[in-house]
Amino acid sequence: MTASMTAPENVLTVQDLLKQQAFVNGEWVDSIHGDTFDVTNPATDELIVKVADLSAEETRSAINSAHQAYLQWKGTTAKHRASVLKRWYELIMANIELLAEIMTLEQGKSLNESRGEVAYGASYIEWFAEEARRSYGDVIPTTGSDRRMITIKQPVGVVTAITPWNFPNAMITRKASPAIAAGCSIIIKPAAETPLSALALVELARRAGVPAGVINVITSTKSREVGLEMTTNKLVQKVTFTGSTPVGKILLTQAAQTVKKASMELGGNAPILVFADADLEKAAQGALGSKFRNGGQTCICANRILVHDDVYDEFLQIFAKKVEQVVQGNGMDDGVDIGPLVSQRAVNDVAALVDDACTQGGRIYSIDSSNHKHEGNFFPPTILADVPQKARVFSEEIFGPVAPVFRFSSDEEAVAMANDTEYGLAAYMYTRDYSRAWTMSEELEYGMVGVNETAITSEVIPFGGVKESGLGREGSKYGLDDFMEIKYICMGGI
Ligand code: ADP
Repeated sequence: MTASMTAPENVLTVQDLLKQQAFVNGEWVDSIHGDTFDVTNPATDELIVKVADLSAEETRSAINSAHQAYLQWKGTTAKHRASVLKRWYELIMANIELLAEIMTLEQGKSLNESRGEVAYGASYIEWFAEEARRSYGDVIPTTGSDRRMITIKQPVGVVTAITPWNFPNAMITRKASPAIAAGCSIIIKPAAETPLSALALVELARRAGVPAGVINVITSTKSREVGLEMTTNKLVQKVTFTGSTPVGKILLTQAAQTVKKASMELGGNAPILVFADADLEKAAQGALGSKFRNGGQTCICANRILVHDDVYDEFLQIFAKKVEQVVQGNGMDDGVDIGPLVSQRAVNDVAALVDDACTQGGRIYSIDSSNHKHEGNFFPPTILADVPQKARVFSEEIFGPVAPVFRFSSDEEAVAMANDTEYGLAAYMYTRDYSRAWTMSEELEYGMVGVNETAITSEVIPFGGVKESGLGREGSKYGLDDFMEIKYICMGGI
């Protein structure tokens, strides 16, 4: 941290950041109809605050003002936009504790994970502040002596973003910071479960000097009508979404009517391949970290653990010992690793997947499976052993702390099982064989592959999937391109 980041004037109070209104064109606004919705703590089901519930009509007027703001903002220098983003980054880092508490209250993850997410989210802002100044065009070697050819990069225009509840901070900064860096304006609709992190972030953006209308947050439970406006309004040039594949398909279909650019970060069904030559201790540790982060509510978290027959039993034993150490509880309490699931519906969905796996021939693997019960929104960390491929957990995103472990007996079978899904976001493998690591990395139909590592994401890498896991890449040197158009200019008569 630099001295400026810890300066007292940067450190705010909870009243400064716990907002209940939407943020449109630089103003905090209520719904015109006075509608509100409840934001509750999933660990206790207690009400935190009531938040303004906006409609499509208000979204339309936010898009109009964002368009006006874009016309000004696109004319600023990259250096200016970078300096505003850096201030935003510094304000976030100075208030990391407050932002983490707000996140744990509304989302349930442990405070440690919330702190980690706030820093991870902020890293995108810092990165795109730096990248803003490197959006170079080209001079193309000419095809005729009477002409010169160049390209320039320009912001796409007004961007709309729809974001999920599992990462209430980072899924917003990943979209807002490249948009702002490129010279776009953005309207964000956070998930109704977790609007408070979005509102706190935007208050800090305002304090950092992001001008009125350049960043807006529409809080709403009316996701269909607000989403329709965001994907069909002619002033919007780009839609960026993180969420489920079915909703992504709806938004893409809607956006197609006016041929908008679209980035889609959708569902995953990540395999972890544990080969017979793997370091099983490291493989089990990697599987633990990947599977149980955010209570398993992560699109790149291990959904299927595929283990070679020869080491299957040994791996299960090592893995189970580690899973038994996982502490579940209210995310605000010390020492808690994982919190509750986001809602009762989520608990019911995960329980149904476990029941299905057991009906199909799988079993709950633990020293004492009679202890397996769930209360409130808490679902206990669960290992499923000997699960057949026909079980739903093989093909569906689990989104909970359930780790199904499957068997394979050859490299060919492993890769066929891993690719036997419509998803293609992240895949992982544990092997000591250099040649296998290369071959498998090439054969896995995924946008991201971790070899002997499951903590693979950061702001410097291109995050994104193939197949039905999405379109586009977030972060990295490629991330800004998704928010810019390349314009070709031919200068003739030379
Ligand atoms: P999850 O299952 O993780 O909640 P969703 O895809 O349902 O994922 O939700 C992600 C985001 O998409 C949330 O902000 C949600 O409100 C929004 N959403 C859900 N359904 C629609 C829809 N039909 N149109 C627009 N947005 C939607």
